[in-house]
Amino acid sequence: MGPGFRVKIVSAFSKVQIDDIPEDESGNTLERFGFETYRTIVTRMEQGLLVYDRQRILGANAKLCSLLNCPAELVVPGADLEKFIQFGAERGDYSASAGLTLQSMRMHIAAGKDYIVERQLPDGRTIRIDCRHDGETGIGTYTDITDAAKEKAVLEATFEAMAQGLLVHDRGTIIASNARLAEVLEIPAELITVGNSWEAIIRYRIERGDYQDGESHLVRAREAFATRREFTVEAQAGSRTLLTECRHRHGMMFVTYTDITDARARELLLQDKEMEVRKLAAIDGLTNLTNRRAFDEDLQTRLDARGPNADQNALALILVDLDRFKPVNDTYGHALGDALLQTLSDRFRGVIRQGDTMARIGGDEFAAIVEVSSESDALKFAGRLRDAAKRPVVVGDTELNVDASVGVAFLNGETNDAESLLMAADLALYAAKEAGRGTVRTYKPELAERAKERYSLEQDLRSALENDEVVLFYQVQRDLHTNKDVGYEALMRWQHPARGLVSPADFIPLAEETGLIVDMGRWALRQAATDFADLDKTTRVAVNVSPVQFVKSDLVADVKAALDESGLEPERLEIEITEDLLIEDTENTLRILSELRELGLSLSLDDFGSGYSSLAYLTQFPFTKLKIDRCFTERMLLDNRSRSLVTSILALASSLGMKVTAEGVETAAQLAMLTDGSCDEAQGYLLGKPVPFTKAFAAK
Ligand code: C2E
Ligand code: MG
Ligand code: MG
Repeated sequence: MGPGFRVKIVSAFSKVQIDDIPEDESGNTLERFGFETYRTIVTRMEQGLLVYDRQRILGANAKLCSLLNCPAELVVPGADLEKFIQFGAERGDYSASAGLTLQSMRMHIAAGKDYIVERQLPDGRTIRIDCRHDGETGIGTYTDITDAAKEKAVLEATFEAMAQGLLVHDRGTIIASNARLAEVLEIPAELITVGNSWEAIIRYRIERGDYQDGESHLVRAREAFATRREFTVEAQAGSRTLLTECRHRHGMMFVTYTDITDARARELLLQDKEMEVRKLAAIDGLTNLTNRRAFDEDLQTRLDARGPNADQNALALILVDLDRFKPVNDTYGHALGDALLQTLSDRFRGVIRQGDTMARIGGDEFAAIVEVSSESDALKFAGRLRDAAKRPVVVGDTELNVDASVGVAFLNGETNDAESLLMAADLALYAAKEAGRGTVRTYKPELAERAKERYSLEQDLRSALENDEVVLFYQVQRDLHTNKDVGYEALMRWQHPARGLVSPADFIPLAEETGLIVDMGRWALRQAATDFADLDKTTRVAVNVSPVQFVKSDLVADVKAALDESGLEPERLEIEITEDLLIEDTENTLRILSELRELGLSLSLDDFGSGYSSLAYLTQFPFTKLKIDRCFTERMLLDNRSRSLVTSILALASSLGMKVTAEGVETAAQLAMLTDGSCDEAQGYLLGKPVPFTKAFAAK
């Protein structure tokens, strides 16, 4: 509304009630039209209208009275202005008014100065009064802004209740903020005064060091605002971490700052915890070494870090497998077994250097990843690991002795990924075991060849039984007291279509590893029983049984079936087992052996003296016979120690009521010595080589 317009209205209505403008007597249509228009505007307008000079009311529209809820006589032309003001003041309209106090409002009127004031009516409504002055005359517009005021109040309360700091600026000039803002930004409140530049805040924060990019931050912020780009960033503000979110609305930037210091701290704490858990998850609980899973990851990470053109032989993988751990564990119990593993683990850890990895990857299997300068460097580590395993471990007053087989593989052109490196180390370990345990072996391509060979043999072995390629040979056993042949040992042979006759030394271990021995052993029992059932009733047959059959099949049932089907008398069947079995699962073995004895079978302890040879076995298990390993038969005549050993075995067996068979008798001198020493039976090439059944009994 321009000043000219206001003056016109005032002069036109100066002496009349505005709603009641009389018809113009002059008849001037233009003037008439003017009055009509004014009247319509004034009566219909949403606002109340009051025209006054400094003392008196000059006029008002009807809306004013209804808006203010005041008696009409207070605003009739000529009424006292002060009375009208008094009416509102007494009612308390100005007590909570925004803008001017009652006093300063009166001064504004007296001085003819424009003002705006908001009156709070007793019924809760808010009226905004905009008074403009032109010389003596004042004109006030009264607008009901209750809704807007409520909205504003709600907004203000919301602003203040917000946990975030809020800043609204319009092209860089602050137009609103809340009290929380100074707090979260940790800046002086006066920096945030409405009308100030928003850049002052940024400058303050740049100087304090909130931004890593310093001055250029301001440049980027300016640009973001200029292009109205909305963004969310995490930034430091003094001691706090804030999440700053900028949103653009109606040409204004709304910036909220959320204090996430605690949340970040919590997150960091969580990350720490997670790291801790991850570390724990990577550790073997018993030995505190790296566990299998973490070892695999570690190896992969190291290989990834090296890339494909890594230095040859700079990384070695060493696998350590304890020898004789199982018997120690079974004999002394798991507590001592665990203590042994712990002590060895500590020793192993002491062998490798910092930065290298020592892991337990299985019950008694360990693996080391070592960075080495040469192959001999790696072998040194391997040797030290083996030595560490070999040294006796004393737990309480028990001395435990184990050893270790060690396989070593290097990272090179052929073995350049985790899988092939592991495979190579595994083959080397296998070779070490084969070489008689307690040894260190390095991977060589021939080992892979042998493995392949073994694999192809294994494939063939799977069908050997079905293809009738497996046969039994028999070797005679002679009673040295009567000089009569009293029995035969059944020895398996594999008639391979391409390889010819394969030695049991080559295929029995393979059959045991694959479990094929279960079917093969069952077949051997049946075949031997069938072959011998119809023979001379005094001739016995001895069948070798693998430890695997004790664990993986129902041996007693298999034996019963063989006897039932063939009709062979149980007394004529002898089972030969090796010492390996006795150390595996003592309780189960003892139960099965006892059941076999109850059936009436004889039980022989095969190859006595070649393995662990604990005399305890002899008293603990129900053996009827002991077979002296052929190496003693061979050495008996060569060294005194072997001779006295054989003599004491013979004495011991007789005191325990066991018979003794000497294996591998090849010379008459050996036979004579055994006969003199009252050995019960003998078996060997001298008396007869293993031959097919038909050949053994061709003459009979
Ligand atoms: P073993 O049970 O100790 O069998 C005796 C081995 O010594 C046989 O070897 C036999 O041929 C050999 N031998 C006998 N007399 C002499 C001799 O005077 N001089 C020499 N140098 N050797 C002699 P073979 O037949 O090669 O069997 C080797 C091993 O394979 C057997 O040792 C036994 O442990 C295993 N085996 C053989 N057949 C079976 C079977 O059916 N089942 C199981 N589980 N193992 C078997
Ligand atoms: Mg045997
Ligand atoms: Mg033997």
